[in-house]
Amino acid sequence: MYKLRNSLYINLTIRCNADCVFCDRKGEAIIKGHNLRITKEPTVQEVINEIGDPTKYDDIVFCGYGGPTIRLDAVKEVSKWVKQHRGKTRLNTDGHGNIINKRNIIPELVGLIDAVSISLNTTDPEHYGELMRIDGKKHFNAMIEFAKESVKTFHDVTMTIVNLDGVDRGKARRLVEDEIGATFRARPYF
Ligand code: SF4
Repeated sequence: MYKLRNSLYINLTIRCNADCVFCDRKGEAIIKGHNLRITKEPTVQEVINEIGDPTKYDDIVFCGYGGPTIRLDAVKEVSKWVKQHRGKTRLNTDGHGNIINKRNIIPELVGLIDAVSISLNTTDPEHYGELMRIDGKKHFNAMIEFAKESVKTFHDVTMTIVNLDGVDRGKARRLVEDEIGATFRARPYF
């Protein structure tokens, strides 16, 4: 768990269904000077205890390293508690939650998650597969579908790319803004 600007970032797991070439998950797992190499996944109660008062933060963010939707039940339980205590929640995800959980998870997040940020990474399915070291076409399509459903469901949806060579920012922006209707953001690796 770490604080950045005025958000509290919660690292529920370091497990991930992908293996991105730019990810330090299996290395030092350092983000902005915080070491996220957790050795034990926190329980829901441990996370809640650490949050304390969620209204102290702009939002409580479920994030990586690792894919938070791998622990979907924990995301739901913690965010339910946050909402009951007047806090805001955000899910940072690779957008593969429906594949991971083998069902459409978006309806389960209604009323629990306020904002979603999805890693688009690139607009090309083959490049996507190379970057994330997964079946590019299958996961790219699932991620785009997840994003479109999210736009229909949540009022605040962002899609991000990392500043990498070979990623066409203009094309990514057009896809995100014109075709999907989400907010576009280019970000550093982490
Ligand atoms: S999806 Fe995120 S946590 Fe998973 S390998 Fe890629 S960058 Fe790392």
